[in-house]
Amino acid sequence: MTELQPIPDDWTYAPAPEGRDIVTLQPRYGLYVGGQWLEPSETYTTLAPRDEEPLAEIAQATEEDVDRAVTAARDAFANGWSSLPGSERAKYLFRIARILQERAREFAVLESLNGGKPIKESRDVDLPLAAAHFFYYAGWADKLEYAFPNRRPKPVGVAGQIIPWNFPLLMLAWKIAPALACGNTVVLKPAETTPLTALLFCDVLRQAELPPGVVNIITGDGRTGAALVDHAGVDKIAFTGSTDVGKLIQRRLAGTGKKLTLELGGKAANIVFDDCALDQAVEGIVNGIYFNQGHVCCAGSRLFAQESIYEPLVDKLKHRLTTLRVGDPLDKNTDVGAINSRMQLEKIEELVASGREEGAEIYQPPCRLPEKGYWFAPTVFTNVAQSYRIAQEEIFGPVLSVLTFRTPEEAVEKANNTPYGLSAGVWTEKGSRILWMAQRMRAGVVWANTFNRFDPTSPFGGYKESGFGREGGLHGLEPYLTFDE
Ligand code: NDP
Repeated sequence: MTELQPIPDDWTYAPAPEGRDIVTLQPRYGLYVGGQWLEPSETYTTLAPRDEEPLAEIAQATEEDVDRAVTAARDAFANGWSSLPGSERAKYLFRIARILQERAREFAVLESLNGGKPIKESRDVDLPLAAAHFFYYAGWADKLEYAFPNRRPKPVGVAGQIIPWNFPLLMLAWKIAPALACGNTVVLKPAETTPLTALLFCDVLRQAELPPGVVNIITGDGRTGAALVDHAGVDKIAFTGSTDVGKLIQRRLAGTGKKLTLELGGKAANIVFDDCALDQAVEGIVNGIYFNQGHVCCAGSRLFAQESIYEPLVDKLKHRLTTLRVGDPLDKNTDVGAINSRMQLEKIEELVASGREEGAEIYQPPCRLPEKGYWFAPTVFTNVAQSYRIAQEEIFGPVLSVLTFRTPEEAVEKANNTPYGLSAGVWTEKGSRILWMAQRMRAGVVWANTFNRFDPTSPFGGYKESGFGREGGLHGLEPYLTFDE
């Protein structure tokens, strides 16, 4: 007879660190221009936000470097890429997608190391979606005439692309895949704090034998981004980042004839009706705001609870927060990783302090935060008035503001009371109510009984101060094309 094992009384998770040996970091990185690595004249250090470990020296591209990159992109555009048949361009995109899949673990580890997000998110969300974007747009490359019948689509030229630090590789894929599918060439600038996966991506381009100059990657801070925006040889700017910088770029481009798409901030409403599946909604709320430490432009940062379920909902939510594991991004059990930078941490702390001062009630589950690095505990604010800064401004951290409503009309009015309009969530069992709400929400994406779902076939983008233009889907091709009409 087999002996019965005693039931353990300690169910705490043992550490499950993902090995980082798969990543080989260079001590110093140059600029990837015309298929070559250029020596930088100036560098800065990129860190691991989990413990401030210096990871590598990164080039700070100057105006001359930007000019070299744009010239390389222009040459590549003129000397073959723009006239290559779509079916040939597609082959490169398919290759890139497949190589990303093959090297997924390496990229996921590097993304978590440099950005601070949990490895299970880099591994299960960022990498599969980045590869899917290349696959998806590879499929369009030879079908542009069908996508836009009788409009004779043509590439725009050189696209300058500026991306943020919250989804470094995924935003790169969102930008580069449709641009190349349409026959454009690219100069891309990753965010200052998260350049490493974009630099590793240059090795994917080498493996895929992409012709030199079709994609150029230049690193640096906002000055490099500004030089790219201002360069006369750029035909189109695609920007994802803060609304403030987005507005600045729009002002600088006014009258230049350059095309522009802006994907900016958000303050999404996640609206929970009393007839919803409550436990499912709690999971959606948690995913909506604590995914990627809340560093998500479409994060569900304002929870609107119908008054009749306010108490059970908040109780369940607080209980669920106690089960979130905050810690090492490279641990496979981690739910909430490190804040991306000291600057972002200070911004979160400042807004959270304003919430307390204005009179909101704060809840944070007991959790021990690591001593080194940048950390912030998952936070819920109740007793929030619509006028509070935490209900108005984008915090871009793991901080949820809970508000209430009584009727669907009131929910719509309160949810739309924001300068932003990127996304929204509705939780109810009634299909008719979902449609009624979706028609009235001023948001580019409305999720029903789910949140933060992404798919390359589905367009994404905002209203109002969340920007304009769409990325993803058929709509995502249009900003990279001109038409003979
Ligand atoms: P930014 O808008 O400054 O950064 C986005 C990108 O633009 C980065 O590559 C940045 O470079 C670059 N950039 C900065 N200044 C200029 C400029 N004048 N011209 C052209 N490019 C420029 O966002 P932050 O990183 O400063 O974050 C601030 C806030 O913005 C966050 O707290 C959050 O609220 C919001 N945000 C929203 C994002 C979104 O997805 N909608 C993404 C990131 C931030 P560099 O990295 O060197 O600054």
